[in-house]
Amino acid sequence: MGCLFCNVLEKKIPADVIYEDEHAVAFRDIRPMAPTHVLVIPRKHIAAIHDLTEEDVATMGRVMLAAKAVAHQEGLEAGGYRLVINDGDAAGQTVHHIHVHVLGGRNLTWPPG
Ligand code: 5GP
Ligand code: ZN
Repeated sequence: MGCLFCNVLEKKIPADVIYEDEHAVAFRDIRPMAPTHVLVIPRKHIAAIHDLTEEDVATMGRVMLAAKAVAHQEGLEAGGYRLVINDGDAAGQTVHHIHVHVLGGRNLTWPPG
């Protein structure tokens, strides 16, 4: 069936989309790890951080701005929040369409597990 998050973008799979613009889309994680857990993805299919090239600089900048907009929209700024990008098996990447996790609404421990 191809890429799961491309299917979300194409609305073949339903998602709770809370933000979208020309370059990025954000939707709630199906298995939230915090009171707010949103995934921000580029509309362009890029599998992982290790696949980024110079061509993706503007796209990833847009993804970061979208993550900031999501944090604002979700009221996370005052309390603080965390952005996470998992790359590869050791980090637990399970979906191979690059995504930024926006996590907030509780105290987040460091180092992460
Ligand atoms: P990763 O482990 O690759 O960094 O993160 C993938 C995330 O996608 C996980 O947090 C997982 O819960 C979420 N996820 C997996 N399948 C779906 C889905 O069909 N819909 C949504 N909204 N989230 C999903
Ligand atoms: Zn994809």
